[in-house]
Formats: sequence, structure tokens, C-alpha cells
Amino acid sequence: MLGKFELYMPTDFQEACALKANGALPVAGGTDVYVNMHGGKDRVPEVLDIKQLKELQGHSYTEGKGLDLGALTAHRIIERWDVIKQHYYAFFQGCSQVGSVQIRYRGTLGGNIMNGAPSADSIGPMLVHDAVAVVAGPNGERSIPLEKFYTGFKKHDIKPDELLTRIRIPDTPENAGSAYYKYTRRGAMDLALMGVSAYVELDGDVMRNVRIALTTAAPTPMRSHAAEEVLEGQPVSDDIIVKAAEAVASEGKPRSSWRSSAEFRVRLLHDVTIQVLHEAIERAGKPFDQKCEPIPERLYPGQDGLKPRPKEEV
Ligand SMILES: Cc1cc2nc3c(=O)[nH]c(=O)nc-3n(C[C@H](O)[C@H](O)[C@H](O)COP(=O)(O)OP(=O)(O)OC[C@H]3O[C@@H](n4cnc5c(N)ncnc54)[C@H](O)[C@@H]3O)c2cc1C
Repeated sequence: MLGKFELYMPTDFQEACALKANGALPVAGGTDVYVNMHGGKDRVPEVLDIKQLKELQGHSYTEGKGLDLGALTAHRIIERWDVIKQHYYAFFQGCSQVGSVQIRYRGTLGGNIMNGAPSADSIGPMLVHDAVAVVAGPNGERSIPLEKFYTGFKKHDIKPDELLTRIRIPDTPENAGSAYYKYTRRGAMDLALMGVSAYVELDGDVMRNVRIALTTAAPTPMRSHAAEEVLEGQPVSDDIIVKAAEAVASEGKPRSSWRSSAEFRVRLLHDVTIQVLHEAIERAGKPFDQKCEPIPERLYPGQDGLKPRPKEEV
């Protein structure tokens, strides 16, 4: 049961902003909103369907400029769009792992950002691709780097009379590569127990503009600036990648939950970072000779109170 509510479906943007300012809850694909309402959470008397607002629609790519994505862009569009695989591979990996095909047809980027779950699969990839969130309301438009858009657990830099309208992501040069790894407890549809995204540009052998983002490692998706600093301007080597993984493992502050202990998540942060950096560097044009460490087997509750593996085992 969803409960009773008044449904508004405005086509005028300012009307939508006024309804939101009066307490109506925006709904895009509804894969979070309606599921929550069905479960008895977030039941509100007024729901604002934003799907008819042209300010939130459309998606385009301009060479040299990048992506301009309406907040209503569905994960499935990103997953099926050649441009994304070519220039924003981590973003393809993130969006193609959201729920099921049905969820990806309905669920939107705007909804994923605004729902604000630390496990959101599209956010880490957007963070490493330097995405900017555009919000708009009666006082005009504001552009906020996605990293700064999160102000706390499920909290954003958005005013009651504003909506998230667009996401803009700069173009990537040819010497860039990115990757996202989502670790789940099972092979089928599941939320991320841990996720790491990486972006790197290669200047010969030297890593530039390195960006690393962590999923489910803190109350909000976050960048790992300490690890980025370790890698920035350094030539590619296994040693430096392991150092970056150690920095990620000490910067991420995951919590224990029924999905996993915090200790196991920290170990994953380390191992997954190595894998993701290898992948991103390979995509940027430098194949790796050495195989990276295997990521730990999926574990079940009660089995995951593991300590980091001793060095000789790695
Ligand atoms: C079975 C299932 C599996 C799932 N699996 C995953 C998964 O693997 N990975 C993952 O990341 N997510 C997953 N989700 C969560 C969900 O599908 C995503 O978060 C999705 O992107 C939400 O988009 P939506 O358009 O449906 O959001 P909605 O439910 O419409 O909205 C979500 C929130 O954002 C707000 N909102 C939406 N658009 C705007 C806007 N433009 N401006 C301001 N506020 C806005 C709404 O008010 C609401 O608070 C899953 C959900 C289900 C039901």
C-alpha cells in the first residue's frame, strides 16, 4: 500500500519549484520514493511528478565540452550509449550495475544523486569524472561540483524551492582511462558492499589528474584525496599503486552493517583500489605486465570479521 496522496504533474518549472517549496516530494522514476512509501516510509500528502519538466530532460555529448545530462536521464540510457563506453567507462560500469534492467529503465541519475545513498552506483564514477550538479529555482541556476553537493548523510546543497536540473561532465582526453568496481555479497542484484572508482590520465608513464572515489566508505560518496596525492605526478609502478591503496584504506571510514563488518570493508578498499587502478591505467593506454591481487571471495554474514591478510599471502 502506498497510502493516499495528492499527485501533481506540472509542465511549468516555476510551478514545480513552488510546489516543492510547499512540501511536495519530487518523484522522477520513483524507484526509491514509491518503494519507500510502499514500505511505510516517507509517506507524504503531496507528490510532485517532475517527468514533464523540459528543464530536466535530454542528454547530449559535445566533443571537447563533454556531457550535458538532464536529471531525468535513466541509467539505461547511460548503459546503452556508445559515447559513455568510449569516454567515461567507469560511468558505464556504474550505471549498468544499478539494480535490474527494469530498475535502470525507470531510475534516473537525478534520483540516484538526490536519494543520496552512500552505496549509489552512479555517484563514484561521476565524482571521478569531475561532474557538476546544476540546480535551479526562482532565483536562477547554480552549478556545484558534485563533490561539494553532498553536505551530510542524504543531505545536499539544495534549497527547498530548487530542483536538480542537470549534470555536466567534462570531456576526457585520449590518454584518460577510468574504472569502477562494485563489490557485492552475491552475484545477482545487490547494493554495493563497497565500491571504488578511479580516473587517470597518462603523460607517457606519469599519472596526472588522478581521481579516486569511494562508495559505501563514509556517510556520503567521497573522493580519496590522500590517495590521489600519492599517485599524482608519479610514474606507474606496482609499489605506488599499493601505497595509494593503503592511503584509501586509511582515509575511508566505512561502518559495520548487516552486510559487512567495517574491518572487511577496509580490507576491500585496499584490494579493490589496486584492481581499479590497474584497470583505469590500462584503459589510459598502459598495459600491466603483472596480475593484480585477487579480490576476496564473496562472504556471508558471520564470516567477514577478517583481519588484513599477512604480506606473504598477498
Ligand atoms: C529493486 C531495486 C534495486 C536497486 N538497486 C540499486 C543499485 O544496485 N544501485 C543503486 O545505486 N541504486 C539502486 N536502487 C535505488 C534506485 O533505483 C536509484 O537510486 C535510482 O537512481 C533512483 O532514481 P529515481 O528516478 O527512481 O528516483 P526517485 O525515487 O524518483 O527519487 C529519489 C529521491 O530523489 C529526489 N529527486 C529525484 N529527482 C530529483 C530532482 N531532479 N531534483 C530534486 N530531487 C529529486 C526524490 O524526491 C527522492 O528523494 C535500487 C532500487 C530498487 C527498487
